[in-house]
Amino acid sequence: MLYKVRDEISKNYDVIIIGSGLAGMTAANILGRNGHAVLLLESHNKLGGFATWFFRDERNHVFDVSLHGFPVGMIKTCRKYWSREIADSIVQLKDVRFVNPQFSVQTDFTKEHYTQVLVETFGLSRDTVDGFFKYLGEMNFYDDARLTNRELFDRFFPGRNDVVRFLMEPITYANGSTLDDPAITYGIVFSNFMSKGVYTFRGGTDVLIAKMKDELLKNNVDIKLQARVEKIVLKDGVTAGVAVGGRVVEAKTVLSNGNIKSTVLGLVGEEHFPAEYVEKTRSIRLNSSSCQVYMGLKEGATIPYIGELVFTSSYPTYEPARLLDLKVSSRTFSVYYPHETRPQSPEARVAIVSSTNCHYDDWKNLSPEAYEAEKLQMIEDTLRGLEAFIPDIRDKLEVIDAATPLTVERYTLHPKGTSFGTKFEGLDVSMNLHKTIPGLFHAGSVGIIMSGWLGAANYGAIQANAIESYLAGRGA
Ligand SMILES: Cc1cc2nc3c(=O)[nH]c(=O)nc-3n(C[C@H](O)[C@H](O)[C@H](O)COP(=O)(O)OP(=O)(O)OC[C@H]3O[C@@H](n4cnc5c(N)ncnc54)[C@H](O)[C@@H]3O)c2cc1C
Repeated sequence: MLYKVRDEISKNYDVIIIGSGLAGMTAANILGRNGHAVLLLESHNKLGGFATWFFRDERNHVFDVSLHGFPVGMIKTCRKYWSREIADSIVQLKDVRFVNPQFSVQTDFTKEHYTQVLVETFGLSRDTVDGFFKYLGEMNFYDDARLTNRELFDRFFPGRNDVVRFLMEPITYANGSTLDDPAITYGIVFSNFMSKGVYTFRGGTDVLIAKMKDELLKNNVDIKLQARVEKIVLKDGVTAGVAVGGRVVEAKTVLSNGNIKSTVLGLVGEEHFPAEYVEKTRSIRLNSSSCQVYMGLKEGATIPYIGELVFTSSYPTYEPARLLDLKVSSRTFSVYYPHETRPQSPEARVAIVSSTNCHYDDWKNLSPEAYEAEKLQMIEDTLRGLEAFIPDIRDKLEVIDAATPLTVERYTLHPKGTSFGTKFEGLDVSMNLHKTIPGLFHAGSVGIIMSGWLGAANYGAIQANAIESYLAGRGA
């Protein structure tokens, strides 16, 4: 059932899930489908977490926030944990482009085409390229995490900043990875994408989340929106439920889909954990945040086809740190051509979303006036960047809006507006949560492999499995 905002919850549950990101929803769906009594509580007024969208101008314009691209594995994940109908709407992006002072490349983002470009355009030997992909393909999650991306690229492509840019920049854009992050996480994420290219959900995020909501309700998951959990309640050191709206709802297990640091240090409270666990949690680094500019075209306005995902920069070389600058010249344009993205709405307008990675503190520390001025400047810089592809874009636009790390923080409750949760060390704390407090689990963006649409959904499935084992052990 879908609770109304004012409804009181009087039932007890097997599982309460805090947060409806893709990890929380996927876990809820699996557990509900398997017959457990599940309550999904979401602080926002809609499901999805970062997998979200918004309308402007009385629904004439719709903008997808994080539907830019994910690996092919999402098809299998959706078929297995959601429905065939959802899986069947996942389609490949055919046209990914890179335009920067070092190179201009159009690709379908597959290993085969990347190999061709690396050999023919970048002049590398076939053996080197094959050796690199073979090395990536053989990496697995349990490998030594000490090798950094910098060392990996130095090993295969010494002195080739242009090659590193081609291989690394999309992943930096996608999840804020730097050359100092473990090569293992890059290797797995990049190989995931390279296996068959980049995919999207045809229909738009609004349609996807509506279908997921229907599926959750069909599987008897109870849902309450605008329900911000204040506390996770323990009894004798064991999970007993949550406090929401000033009342306690009891449950045998709780899965938090909120940020792992906020879950441990805020929702539970450090006094309930061993000092060493608290220390580990405190030292988890957050990932960077994102800025976006949303542009909606006037009714009937069209643009030339410029690709679906365009990685663009006027910066002379690849420097991950520069990609986070307030005055950045590197951005990704996602172009949503209505007949491709939303074939169900022929009246939909063309939408373009520009994304950049950025530092929360650069925005947080601005005065209100400086913040507004900086936002306007970001919009202006974005338009200038887009004019290189569509010279008359300003005449065609009807709506333009921008989001900063403060927007991300407000809507998802992630500390410092982190768009990809935490760095890889968050995973260890997340996976050990239930070993520290029986019945308490976490799923959500921790480390690059468990982040993004696919990573988050899969992590939800892993933790749903762990919850079922725990409930079985309790005889539930
Ligand atoms: C701008 C941007 C672009 C992105 N682009 C892509 C992309 O192209 N491809 C891709 O794969 N990934 C992309 N991502 C990342 C991807 O969207 C996320 O990694 C993924 O959706 C995170 O899912 P999650 O399960 O970790 O939960 P989240 O999406 O973080 O959701 C957590 C939910 O928990 C709720 N919550 C938190 N605390 C509480 C509480 N106390 N009580 C109740 N509810 C609570 C929040 O409101 C939120 O809804 C992007 C992210 C951003 C920000």
